[in-house]
Amino acid sequence: MVELEIQVLSDRREGLLTELGCVVVANSFSLIRQRLTQDNRGAWLAMIVRGPPEQRLALEEMLGTHSRVLSFEAALSGETTAIAASPAKTVSPIAFAPSPEPAPVSEPPVVPSTAVMPDVARVEHILPKLAQDYPQIYPWLVALENSVDDAVREASLMLAGRRTGAWVYKRDYALGAKLSLADAIKRIGVPALRLLADIEQHGVHVHILNSPLCAPGVRSGCRFYGGYVEGLLSGSVAPKKVFVRHLSCRSTGAAHCSLEISH
Ligand SMILES: [Zn+2]
Repeated sequence: MVELEIQVLSDRREGLLTELGCVVVANSFSLIRQRLTQDNRGAWLAMIVRGPPEQRLALEEMLGTHSRVLSFEAALSGETTAIAASPAKTVSPIAFAPSPEPAPVSEPPVVPSTAVMPDVARVEHILPKLAQDYPQIYPWLVALENSVDDAVREASLMLAGRRTGAWVYKRDYALGAKLSLADAIKRIGVPALRLLADIEQHGVHVHILNSPLCAPGVRSGCRFYGGYVEGLLSGSVAPKKVFVRHLSCRSTGAAHCSLEISH
């Protein structure tokens, strides 16, 4: 069993606990404590949940992409990382109230079961280093690649990307207005990607010209950029989800790595 501290920002509090409680239960987690507060940014729901470690990513994915969720952070209980910590004053320490009611259950769970699971522990381990050295993060990403099993390397890079992108969004862009996807790409995605690599942007297509993670003939690290863009833009275009499709990669002989962003 793992215990997670989760913090969610939503635009309104009505029904928030009920709806997200369903997601928690659907992923075989139990709601231990929760606290709902409100400030000028919206409703903050802090939860402590406990459940099976293999369901952790599915839970985080479902919460992070839930239509009621504007921003989302999760960390192992008692573990605070720079990226996991919210900059808002509501964060710490959170005095959790005892749960007055059991988490509600409504519909059968819809749990994504397809993807290879990332090495969450290794990713969590480097997140503080990514935050500390950002945008000079390639040495840490290479260290991550080398520290995980090859089978979960791409999934781990993607998770590291999503968490980093969400952190950058929250740090630099979260106070801005909601944007269309095109504007979010232009105003958030492009400048944030330029901190990491030389890029060209053509509408919903982004070319990464010289990805240090994708040396020709070696292996592709493009998933990091895909996760990064999804993490960066999801908060801005919410409640829509952002998806990145990988069209080509230097590692397999293409002139550059190419991503297509959609929602
Ligand atoms: Zn690539």
